[in-house]
Amino acid sequence: MRWLKRGLPLVGFLAAGAMLSLVLAWFRVFLPDVAVPFSKRIDLRADLRWLSANLPDDAARLMAVEGLEFSWRSDGRSFVDTRIGEETTRYVFWRYGADGRVDRSPEGTGRALRVRAGWPLSCVEGSEWVAGTSPTLIRTGLVVFDVRRGVVRVPVTIRPLGLWVDALFWGAFLALLAVLPRAVERVLRRRQGLCPSCAYPIGAALPLDGRCSECGSAVQRVRPSQ
Ligand SMILES: [Zn+2]
Repeated sequence: MRWLKRGLPLVGFLAAGAMLSLVLAWFRVFLPDVAVPFSKRIDLRADLRWLSANLPDDAARLMAVEGLEFSWRSDGRSFVDTRIGEETTRYVFWRYGADGRVDRSPEGTGRALRVRAGWPLSCVEGSEWVAGTSPTLIRTGLVVFDVRRGVVRVPVTIRPLGLWVDALFWGAFLALLAVLPRAVERVLRRRQGLCPSCAYPIGAALPLDGRCSECGSAVQRVRPSQ
């Protein structure tokens, strides 16, 4: 059952890391802007993939013309606001029919706003859609709060890959925090000539069997402070 004993804390830290990732992502969207020291490459193809995969049925219905088949096109992001741990992207997209002509009239124009949050990768996502001239605002995976400086959109749809990566990162961080004090304590005890496990004074002489006479744990080089 050794693997179980070692595996359980790992699962625990991973779960705690996932929780911390979500809390940080949600906490982040309420914080004010800070300058971002990097620029992100724009990937038009990924943007288009996201648009076509996430366009809500309701939005597609509102923009549809009866009896006609439509597809969608977009020039990619029209606006992007990148903050550390959060990214807000706006898209404009248009319907086009079988003749290939893009309908850029107000009725044929749709708008999407996507919010992603999390660090190092975004682990949650949500979006807001306006279709044609319809006044209906369609929200998916977004919880909206009114705060003093305006509207805060909190994305709640989990992005599995992002959450895995964030959970590993923050889980490792928590595990380090958990073992660090103990590791420092052992080093300090060893320097003071004490048993690293139970702090029993061993002194200059290394026990013959290499074990602490008090607790039986292995004792290596003992360096007394004098
Ligand atoms: Zn001991």
